[in-house]
Amino acid sequence: MQADFRKENLRSLLEWTGQLACPACLDALRLKEGRMVCTGCGRAYPVVDGIPVLIVERAEGSGAL
Ligand SMILES: [Zn+2]
Repeated sequence: MQADFRKENLRSLLEWTGQLACPACLDALRLKEGRMVCTGCGRAYPVVDGIPVLIVERAEGSGAL
C-alpha cells in the first residue's frame, strides 16, 4: 500500500495551499476534508492520490448539486 506516500503528499498539499489558486475565480484554496475548497466561490476540488484536480468541470458546489 502507499499510505505513507499519500500521507507525505497530503503534507505537501498543506504547504501548497497558500500558493494554489482557484482556476475559476483565482481566489485562494484551502485543504478541507480531503478536498481543496475555494475561499472565494466555494467550489470544492477533488484530491486524487494526493494531487489536487483543479479543473472547474470536476469541482463540486458550483451549482451542479
Ligand atoms: Zn473559486
